[in-house]
Amino acid sequence: MSEERKSDQYHCMKCGKELCQLDRALHRKMVSRGAQEFMCKACLAAYFGTTTENLDELAEYYRREGCSLFD
Ligand SMILES: [Zn+2]
Repeated sequence: MSEERKSDQYHCMKCGKELCQLDRALHRKMVSRGAQEFMCKACLAAYFGTTTENLDELAEYYRREGCSLFD
């Protein structure tokens, strides 16, 4: 039996890091609203050619806008 490493909604689909709520919210907002697999903040930042600091600011902005993903 081979133990296949599957990505799930609790781990980054790229690096396998454990995800927090914010990682998933950012992924939903920036990549796909209906995503079932997610990237952690570091991988998202790399994917969009930006920094994790910038993503934090974006998250804060979305939260202020009242986006329900960022409750
Ligand atoms: Zn990652």
